[in-house]
Amino acid sequence: MSATSVLSATEFQARLERYLYERSEEWRAVRVGDKEVSEQAEIVRRYADLFSREQLDALQEAEQDSSGDERELLYRLRKTCESGLISSQLAEREDELENRLLAERVTFQGEAMPLRNAQAKLAVLPSYADREELGLIQAEASAKFNDERLDLLRATEDLAAEYSGIADAVERNEEEKDISLRELSRALKAASDESTERYRAARERWFTKLLGEDREELPSSYHTAYMRRLSPLEATYTKERATAICLQTLEALGFDMPAQPNIKLDLDDRPQKSPRACVIASDPPKIVHLITRAQGGLHDYQAFLHEAGHALHYAGCDPELPYVFRRISRDHALTEIYSYIIEAITREPAWHEQYFGLSAEQAQENAEATTFLEALLYRRYEAKLRFELDFWSRFTVDGGDAEVYERCLTEATGIRYRRDNYLSDMDAGFYSADYLRAWIRSAQLRSRLLDQVGDDWWRNPATGELLTELFREGTKPSSEEIAGRLEFEPLDTKPLLREIGA
Ligand SMILES: [Zn+2]
Repeated sequence: MSATSVLSATEFQARLERYLYERSEEWRAVRVGDKEVSEQAEIVRRYADLFSREQLDALQEAEQDSSGDERELLYRLRKTCESGLISSQLAEREDELENRLLAERVTFQGEAMPLRNAQAKLAVLPSYADREELGLIQAEASAKFNDERLDLLRATEDLAAEYSGIADAVERNEEEKDISLRELSRALKAASDESTERYRAARERWFTKLLGEDREELPSSYHTAYMRRLSPLEATYTKERATAICLQTLEALGFDMPAQPNIKLDLDDRPQKSPRACVIASDPPKIVHLITRAQGGLHDYQAFLHEAGHALHYAGCDPELPYVFRRISRDHALTEIYSYIIEAITREPAWHEQYFGLSAEQAQENAEATTFLEALLYRRYEAKLRFELDFWSRFTVDGGDAEVYERCLTEATGIRYRRDNYLSDMDAGFYSADYLRAWIRSAQLRSRLLDQVGDDWWRNPATGELLTELFREGTKPSSEEIAGRLEFEPLDTKPLLREIGA
């Protein structure tokens, strides 16, 4: 690459905006089934000039000469360039592993099926014994790819160390998130410990309710997806009413989503559409896609409301903000606060009573189920973060210890995790820490809403007004800055403890 192709920061930002728009729209088209073949590689090739060592150095230089918001903006451009540079070198290997995983077949009770379908099927198989059998088959097939996963992690890690100039993985992620991961982990572990007794009691009750009297004392992780769907409650939370009820729930907060032309709703049930709900912020606040496909069960409602939180956040940002502060953040911790707070409505007993014609008693019971699952997920992620800190601290020495994964997750949840699942269960860039920060923050936010708006915060337009103010700031603030606005210490987990039933 010649020096003449280096763009100024302003040019880089404008071209990045086009690039991300095209990639987002391409992703959307494939996701909803408008296109059968993904042509991301072609877009990446056309914009190859964005991601070079020279470009990265030029952005770094500009950053060093700046201060305040401008410096933050340039930092995010540099980090975007850095990750683009890494993925441009590893994209082929990543695709290769992905395609091999897609091509992998397993046989269950005489029927051959793709590994991915086997994993999806685990959530809906009604028989305990069948889930055990299929769980084992898919886990063993997946573990065969661990050497490749590890090689790819090593390659990514080497490049990240080289381009960022920070060799230590934990330190590099702390620098980017601008927090101490170990301090975060300590605060989260303390909250988890404090709620253990309560969790154990709830677990005994709900495991038996969801898995049956004959369940093992320590059920395997093969049953987690099935439990998360709350299948025994499926008849109440029908697929047909999901969209209407979720839209009414948002309307009560003052958000009339169908009337917001910048939120493009795609809620149809089409066979070629991926069932996972998602938001694609192609050009916030002007073009934000909200895509869902109801399958039946309470999980549909939770997924819709979760994604609606993301959509309202991106669609609600101030259009006058620079592009970077409308679309790019240091991590995911901020936007997850808003998806978590909207999803939290499904833990309100009165919501179940109002929309599903349940008795107060039944509504209480169903809301308790969602609170129990929330506690389970929280404990799982808290343990994942402890494992990941251990893993990355020793990665260059011994490549990590899978036994720590098994021990931490099994102890925290009361679900048996296989050690050889340790790599497929790990997201890049300490994503677990982002979710966990959102857990703390959305609980703080709910606590403020209870104080300022009242018990009916979840159906009061005053909540919508308060959120609208926060959405206007786009992706600019950090999760910890939001703690300041709410007048909480960033690591204050007292509201979270109340949330997960301690
Ligand atoms: Zn989310």
